[in-house]
Order: sequence, then C-alpha cells, then structure tokens
Amino acid sequence: MRTHNLGYPRIGSQRELKKACENFWAGRITAKDLMDIGLKIRRQNWKIQQQAGIDLIPVNDFSLYDQVLDMTVTLGAIPERYQKFNDSLTPLEGYFAMARGLQNEKVDVTAMEMTKWFDTNYHYLVPEFSISQTFQLDSRKVVGEFLEAKQLGIQAKPVLIGPVSYLLLGKEKESGFHRLSLLPALLPVYVNLLKELKANGAEYIQFDEPFLALDLTPLEQDFLHTCYETFRKEIPELKLILANYFDCYGDNLDAALKLPVDVLHLDLVRCSSQLEDILTHPKLSKTTVLSLGLVDGRNILKNNLQYSLDTLQKAIDQLGKERVWVAPSCSLLHVPCDLDLEIKLNPEIKDWLAFARQKLDEVAKLKELLSPVASLSAKDYLETNQSSIKNRSVSSLIHNPKVRDRIQSIQESDYKRKAPFPIRQKAQRDKLGLPLFPTTTIGSFPQTTDIRQLRSQLKSGKISPETYDEKIKAATVDAIRWQEEIGLDVLVHGEFERNDMVEYFGELLEGFAFSQAGWVQSYGSRCVKPPILYGDVWRSQDLSVGWTTYAQQHTDKPMKGMLTGPVTILQWSFVRDDQPRSLTTRQIALAIRDEVAALEAAGIAIIQIDEPALREGLPLRKKDWATYLDWAVRAFRLSCSGVKNETQIHTHMCYSEFNDIIQSIADMDADVITIETSRSEMELLDAFVNFKYPYEIGPGVYDIHSPRVPQVREMVHLLQKAATVIPHEHLWVNPDCGLKTRGWDETREALKNMVEAAKQMRQSVR
Ligand code: GLN
Ligand code: ZN
Repeated sequence: MRTHNLGYPRIGSQRELKKACENFWAGRITAKDLMDIGLKIRRQNWKIQQQAGIDLIPVNDFSLYDQVLDMTVTLGAIPERYQKFNDSLTPLEGYFAMARGLQNEKVDVTAMEMTKWFDTNYHYLVPEFSISQTFQLDSRKVVGEFLEAKQLGIQAKPVLIGPVSYLLLGKEKESGFHRLSLLPALLPVYVNLLKELKANGAEYIQFDEPFLALDLTPLEQDFLHTCYETFRKEIPELKLILANYFDCYGDNLDAALKLPVDVLHLDLVRCSSQLEDILTHPKLSKTTVLSLGLVDGRNILKNNLQYSLDTLQKAIDQLGKERVWVAPSCSLLHVPCDLDLEIKLNPEIKDWLAFARQKLDEVAKLKELLSPVASLSAKDYLETNQSSIKNRSVSSLIHNPKVRDRIQSIQESDYKRKAPFPIRQKAQRDKLGLPLFPTTTIGSFPQTTDIRQLRSQLKSGKISPETYDEKIKAATVDAIRWQEEIGLDVLVHGEFERNDMVEYFGELLEGFAFSQAGWVQSYGSRCVKPPILYGDVWRSQDLSVGWTTYAQQHTDKPMKGMLTGPVTILQWSFVRDDQPRSLTTRQIALAIRDEVAALEAAGIAIIQIDEPALREGLPLRKKDWATYLDWAVRAFRLSCSGVKNETQIHTHMCYSEFNDIIQSIADMDADVITIETSRSEMELLDAFVNFKYPYEIGPGVYDIHSPRVPQVREMVHLLQKAATVIPHEHLWVNPDCGLKTRGWDETREALKNMVEAAKQMRQSVR
C-alpha cells in the first residue's frame, strides 16, 4: 500500500509567493529573486510531504501563476498576440503578460480569459485555440522541477493535465472546428514530454483528467482512449496514474476502466458510492491499482479515520494491499497550508479541523494504522481523531434554537416580491430618475496599501477603532466626491471597511470562525481566507447599514447598499457537513434578508446582493443542476424579496459562462444584474438572442483583472454590441467586477473613459 498526494498549496504558508510575484511586478525584486523564492517554496513543500510520510510526492504542481497557463507554455500553445513580443519581452514577462495583460511604452496586450476551475474558487487561464493551431514542446518547467526534486533525493511524480482535459479547458477562437480535433497534433508533444521525463528517471506520471467528472460524449471517451493507448504504446515502461476528482466517474466509468492505466484515482469524498461500483465492476482489470481519495482536499474538517480505515479495508479485502493506495480526494491547492499557525482559533473548533499539512498526516496515519505493526502513537492518533469527530457532533457551539424556529416559520410568500417586475421598474424609475445607460461600479474601490495598513494597525492595536473608522470614512468621502466629479450615476461607498467580502460578513455573523493564516489561492497572487462556517448562522448586529447610510449622507445621488448573497457566502466558506448545504444557505439568506430590510428602512433605495459564486456552485453533472439551481435561486429570493416595489435590487455575477443557466438567473427576479463579460468579448450576449431576459442588465465593459486601461472606443464597441440584443432602456454601463485589486491611477482613467463611453452612447441614440 502506498500513500500519495495529488498536489500541495504553492503560495507558501506565509503567502511568500504572492508577495514575491507582486514585488517582481512592481520592479522591487529581480526575476532571479522570484525564481529563488519559487524554488525555496517547492523544496519546503517536498520536505513537508516527505516528513509526513507521503510515498509519492507530486512535482509540477507548483506554478508562478496558474498550472493551466503552465501547461499552455509547456505545450507551446501560446496565442499569437503574445508571440509578437517574443523579442521585446523575456519569457517570464511574456508569461505574466498572458496572465495579467501588459501595457507599457512597447507593449499593449490584454490578458487571456480567466475562469473558474470546475466548481472551485480557483481561476485558471483559458487556453485559446485556432484552426491551424500547432504545438511545440517546452519541457523546461516540468523536467526542471522533476530534477530539482531528484537532487533532494526525491523520486517524484510529475503531475500533468491530461490532453483531453487540457483541450476541453480551452476555447476555439475561430469558428469551423472543434478543439478536440487538435488531439492528433497535440499527442506527439505529450509523447515527447513523457519520453523526456522517462529518460530523466521518472517512473510514475499523474494525469489529471477532471473532465471525467462531467458528462462526456462517447466520442470524447474515445479520445481519452486514444490518448492513453498511445502513451502506453510509446512509453510502455512509464506507470500512468489517471486522476479524476470533484465527482463520480459516473457514466464514464466503463470508459475509464478500459483505459490502459496503472492507477485509477477516485474522489471518495464527493462520491463515496463509486467504490462499490468499481469493486464489483466486471471490467476492473486484475492489475489496476485503486487510489482511494479519502481525505477531503476541498474542506478543512478532520477526516473520520475510522470510516476511512473501514473503506480501505474493504478495498484491500478484495484487491489485496498492493492494489490499494490512499490519498487526499484531490489536490490540496484548495485548502490552507498549516493549522499549526492558528493560535487564536477557539480551541474547541480548532480540534475539528485539518489543513493541508495535517491532511498529509491523516493520509500517512491511515497507511500506518493498516500495517500489522501500527505504532502506539498511530493508535493514539486514531483515538484522538475519533473523539474530535464525536465532540463536534455534540457541541453546543453548533446549534441555535432561534435559527431553527426562524427556518420553520418561513412562508412561501417570503420568496416573492410584492409586484411583478414591470410595475417595480416603473416605481423605481419614478423614484430614481436615472438617465439612459446609467453608469455604476460593482462596489469596491482600490484597497491601497494605506487602507490595508489601517486594518493591520487596528488588528495589532496600533490604532484605535475610532481612528480606524475616521480614516475609512475619509476614504469613503473622497471616493464619493470623485465619483460625483466624473459623473457616475449610481454611487458606491467603496467597501474600504471590508478586507474580503465573505470574510467581512462572516466576521459579523454568528456561526462563523476565522483563521489567521488560512489563505487559499484564488488566482495568481490573489488569495482568500475563507471563513469557517461551523454552526447555525444568525444576524445579531448591523452588517452594513452604518457605512452605507454614512455614505448616503454625503451625496444626493443614489448610494447602492452592497451585500454578499447567501450562495456566495456558502460557496466561499469552508462549510459544516452535518446538514444539507441548502439548509445552511437558507440560514444565511435569512440573515441577509434582515440586513436588506434594515438598509431599506434607513432610506437606501438601491441594494446590490452579489452572487458571483452562483455559477461555480453548479454541480458538475447536468442531472444535478435543477436541484441545486432551485435551492440556490430560492435562497437569493428569500434574501431580497422583503422590500417595497420602488426599492431596486441589483445582483452581480462574474466569471462568465452564464448562457446555460440564463433562465435561473432570470428566476432570481433581480431588477438589475451587472455581469462579467468583457474578457470573453460579450460572449454572454449569445444567450440573449433567443432568450428575452426581462430585467435590466449591465454587461461588464472592461476587464478589472488587468491593470490595462480600456479606451473609450473599445467600451463603446462592446456597448453597441450589447445594444443589438438588449433594449436601450435596460442597458447599464459598468466594469466587469469590483475594483479592489486595482490601483487608483488606472481606476480613475478607466472609469472616466467608461463614463465618456456611456455619454457617447446616449448621444448616438438621440
Ligand atoms: N461588490 C464586490 C466588489 O466590488 C463584488 C465582488 C465580486 O463579485 N467578486 O468587490
Ligand atoms: Zn464580480
């Protein structure tokens, strides 16, 4: 029996990589410095895994920005628009230009599109394919990192995104072909990479093919077969691990079992029933090893070791020890590094948790406990583990009778606005008097170093809460003055008081706990610290009314109240597993509902409830969509339906790909939606050709993930495109998302241009 790991967090337990990248981008450190820091993190991670007792340690799970972008570089699929800068940019500069866009005297290029990695909060850069796409191997990173590990005496396992998933992750940038037709051109590049790895001493290769957790067509399944047949034939000595995660093999199981691979990895956290299916499957070959993903790579609750031991034993009874491996369910990229760094967490709650490092221990201990000579310490470990599991289930911290009662008293009418949209729209127009193509922003303004410093000074007690409030208020008033000056129509207070929005709301609600260093990579150098939703959720204090009314007092223009929606709070937290997610979401929705009522009572006429994570919460398999969408949409409606007709409810979503759920978005019954579209050139609008979306909508006119300043004409162009399918009276003008990750200089320029674009639109339709 072997232990292995599918991937380890690469940001460093102190976010060393984030800081290094940002320093490099700002010109404060050299490329060499950045590379050195990367190497140091890799070495640390390998050591941690080695010391924990992981037999097969992954390499190439490290990335300076994103592992899909790395694969694009490795396979030589760099889009043409970056290749023309080959002479003026170093490879590293070129890499970051693809990731973030670049604008200087020599270069002006947009970033590649970014979207969510399956149902996680991690974002990857979408490969772009042309009809005449070629591929060319650049093995430096993969082989280089393999050799680095080897130098430390570690016989590592390179992790690659499998060819079918790689192509499916991407998009065709031209019509007239399907990206899977590129496979014949792509496979030889993989084969050469595998040969090179083999020549350098690699024994195992982990192929991630997470698309196996989605619905695949028979043709797509055939493509998988072609790939792994080819690898088997061309490099027979290499041992192939096929990793699927985030859901069952499901209907792809037959096809997966036919693949000529040595090890099949199963995510038994997301889909525990599949073990039985596989063990009893007639096609399971006599030699295939099963890697049982038992330790949750997506959540931070301790593993129930006894349950895992029983599962392992069952597999061993049938397959024998040699054919059973144990692992986390997926890469540990999605959990924070180390629970030991948490010294402030309530010890009772801390006892229920495990971060990446502790999860490695769990994996190693599972193996140890199954050996006939399990040490005393391993047995102690099991005992402690079992008492933690028990303690959580009976803890008084978790259950709040007030919440139970409130849930029981929900009426069907609580999910419905008082009047249908057309009546509300009229009431809102009369009240707000906004121009055609109203301009607004999504909520946050730049979180400058000054602002972030204030927060850390407050935390460390260097400044008083009063001073903190005063300075945040000053920033808010400045932002209001400036928004008025450039002529925005609907203002925001800027969210200066919020670190991360989910963290901010979680901190004020009952039922949440917080880590100090529980960072998880979101994209590139962006990390989030997801709250720990461990118990019943209750609003016992004001969440945003104070800041919003303060802001409203400083302007005659409408001030949007900014809230985060129930689905997003759920999705971006680590969530309890002792009740259905739908019920937890309903609890959050009630808390938000009370806040919405309080904002309205305080005179706020427009309230935005952000649901950027609604799409990412979608189950991977279509058959599960309806159930999820039903409870998710209902939770949103529960949160906002208590208001009067003239109160305008906005929602906001980002990370594109909404075309297939547009009906559900309409079912949310929000008066206005602002939505990300610019990086995909308004691809979203395709959905509006056949679907008459009844509400007002602001399709984002510029990409906020990039520091690049958009020109007026670019935005006018996008608006004109939008105006071909959206009635003028329904069209809002806004960026793709909040501006907190941007600097003020670029924000000022970009928003001035945006307001100008709206003006030109108004003139053109006069
Ligand atoms: N109101 C939030 C902001 O502007 C929305 C963030 C998001 O959609 N991710 O930051
Ligand atoms: Zn957004």
